[in-house]
Amino acid sequence: MVRAFFSGNMKQKIDFGKLADKFGTPLYVYDVNGMTDKIRAYKDNFKSDRFATKVLYASKAFSCDAMIRLVKEEGLCLDVVSGGELHVAERVGFDMSKVYFHGNNKSRAELEYALRLGVGTVIVDNFGELTLLEKLAKESGKKVKALFRLNIGVDAHTHKYISTTLFESKFGMMPASEEFRNCVALARQSGNVEFDGLHCHIGSQVFDTAAYKLAAEKMAAVLKQFTRPLTLNMGGGFGVRYTADDTPAATPALCRDMVSYVENALDNAGVKIKELLIEPGRSIAGEAGSTVYTVGFVKHIPTKTFYFVDGGMTDNIRPALYQAKYDCDVVGKESAEKTVKVTVAGKCCESGDLLIEDIMLPEAESGDRLVVYTTGAYGYSMSSNYNKACVPAVVFVKDGMARQVVRRQTYADLAACDTEDSGYEVL
Ligand SMILES: *Cc1c(COP(=O)(O)O)cnc(C)c1O
Repeated sequence: MVRAFFSGNMKQKIDFGKLADKFGTPLYVYDVNGMTDKIRAYKDNFKSDRFATKVLYASKAFSCDAMIRLVKEEGLCLDVVSGGELHVAERVGFDMSKVYFHGNNKSRAELEYALRLGVGTVIVDNFGELTLLEKLAKESGKKVKALFRLNIGVDAHTHKYISTTLFESKFGMMPASEEFRNCVALARQSGNVEFDGLHCHIGSQVFDTAAYKLAAEKMAAVLKQFTRPLTLNMGGGFGVRYTADDTPAATPALCRDMVSYVENALDNAGVKIKELLIEPGRSIAGEAGSTVYTVGFVKHIPTKTFYFVDGGMTDNIRPALYQAKYDCDVVGKESAEKTVKVTVAGKCCESGDLLIEDIMLPEAESGDRLVVYTTGAYGYSMSSNYNKACVPAVVFVKDGMARQVVRRQTYADLAACDTEDSGYEVL
């Protein structure tokens, strides 16, 4: 049983108690049917009859072999932001022409790795990067496409967006900057790096789609200076529902809005593009994922009741990092009366290790299972070994059947990189 407002996101009734018995806790559980539906909703609705369209899964939201294999099978393109994420793509045999390599400080080794694998497109953040990429591509005789990341001064990290003239982000280049002009000039005379278009990404967990309208207008104004139809990548950041306060647009409506914002902006500016890209991450993996914990001790202090769980900021850093809000249920007591105001706290040695503050829940006791919803994005991918916690296992549930896709770390895993004491050497 899941809360009514989650029934649209999770496509199947998942028996979290049974999964916890079988695989232990904490446990990341993904509704594969939910993710597939979401991916297909993007593919089916992000279409234009004026230009080609592509949906790129931003793999930093949730990356493991099974997930990237799913993305591959569903025919999406893939965003990676590091050699490590690229390595997952290599391991699952992802078509490298469909891989897009992001990041503001890619290393030489990472760029060489990308060129060696034949990555289709590099999203270039700055002139220094383009200079290095061009040199490496020439040396290795490889060809690669480049999108230039722009900082267009639209900041939409919350329910509201702001258009700023401060341009303080570390990402991208200002459209009027010399750096951007230098990139265009360098790519123009390169035989190895092809200037293919422009990229922007205005934020994450964006609810106000009008922010994308403004972004599209700003991008169209920049595209106007180029005669050849280019690729326009509008980034990701589409919001999901963590609690009942969040009201994200439905995916089909969002896709239609994005396409029409771009079509209108291009019309108004009198420019054409050859293809339009978006990069959803959170909105593909987020709502399909849940984390199951076991309640340990229940502690009452005069002002609060704590339910302590067997995980915390090591498997979900978002509440501690940016006061992210979540909803949860006590497994098997979903319909019970919610009579206790509870703070769900983790087991890490940090006072800020609180997963959910002041939520109404039923009475729970030690041994009960607690499920936190919408942990599918930036949970596992941001997990840590703080306090030498073992990263939990990941289970995929499809058509009512479960499959472990990442096993739980062991204490031996935690020590796997520690070396024997072989004495100090002279440098
Ligand atoms: C993180 C990121 C995304 C995905 O953002 P979501 O909020 O997960 O959709 C897309 N593009 C870029 C460049 C990003 O950095």
